[in-house]
Amino acid sequence: MPYNAISDIGEFGLIDRLAKLVEPTLAGTPALVKGIGDDCAVYRMSETSLQVATTDLLAEQVHFDLLFSPLRLLGGKCISVNVSDICAMNALPSYALISLAVPDSFTIEMVEELYTGMSQAASEYGLAIAGGDTSLSRSGLVVTVSMTGETSDDRISMRSGAQPGDLICVTGTLGAAAAGLKVLIREKHIMLDHLSGNEPYSMNIMANLEEYRDAIGHQLLPVARLDIIKFFLEKNIVPGAMIDISDGISSDLRHICNSSGTGAIIHESRIPINSQARDIADELQEDVITWALGGGEDYELLFTLPPEFACAIEERKDISVIGEITEKETGILLTDIYGMTINLSDLAGYDHFRR
Ligand SMILES: [Mg+2]
Repeated sequence: MPYNAISDIGEFGLIDRLAKLVEPTLAGTPALVKGIGDDCAVYRMSETSLQVATTDLLAEQVHFDLLFSPLRLLGGKCISVNVSDICAMNALPSYALISLAVPDSFTIEMVEELYTGMSQAASEYGLAIAGGDTSLSRSGLVVTVSMTGETSDDRISMRSGAQPGDLICVTGTLGAAAAGLKVLIREKHIMLDHLSGNEPYSMNIMANLEEYRDAIGHQLLPVARLDIIKFFLEKNIVPGAMIDISDGISSDLRHICNSSGTGAIIHESRIPINSQARDIADELQEDVITWALGGGEDYELLFTLPPEFACAIEERKDISVIGEITEKETGILLTDIYGMTINLSDLAGYDHFRR
């Protein structure tokens, strides 16, 4: 049997192969409305009500670095990233289960600090932490949160619901989480250089982080856009398709287009760039648009809206219309600020297994 590296096919190639292996388990499950391939699995609870379920794993040194991630914020982030996937289905979160693998260097107080962050975030989102599992870890902290949420047939938004002519909308601003991470990594290296040079470590090294507060906050404790889902509910708005931005717009828009069998065109000039991310990109001489397109971790919502709902979102200054869904043949395009057209299929989003 030949052995192949996962990096040859990447995260999404691996998911495709695993989806084929679990296919036989789906026989005789009429209540399952959607399995692998969306932000959540969807199953029927009654004639009109649907439940959604998701799980997200955060591993030390892959998703977070304990040198610059305070445990309380990390706990909150673990909850937020799951709530974000629930929101991406136009659903409201209900219950969470938490599994922890904890290194033996951790104290009780450290685990409690992590759980305090989870508990505070769960209270803010209005969901209950209903159970979990704990184990010793031989290689760093691993936190897995599984979550359920509720929606209905007439409210659910899957990735597959986009139609040509729909508006493409994004909430909030983009690029801040990537910018915050760049600053934190830079500061970490400065700190480690000082330590390895046996120079006395000064807390002042970190003192200048205050000016990057917004970007660092977006990286360490993103807020899921449950406020937008409540706004949709109040105004009776149902997005055609929706996804949360975890891998960057180019990758996440591609998921919507592939699932819906459509193309898309978006305009660089309309992408809402976070102003602090722009300043940080200038300072680091990097391209902020690349962060917005491929940086990910912003946990904003990317959704399509049938044109009849256009008026209903006008009052929200934190929703931007950035383009339009097109026929599949058009491809997925970006017009840049000079009017040049770029094929977004060529731009990769974040992929854990690609080197
Ligand atoms: Mg998602």
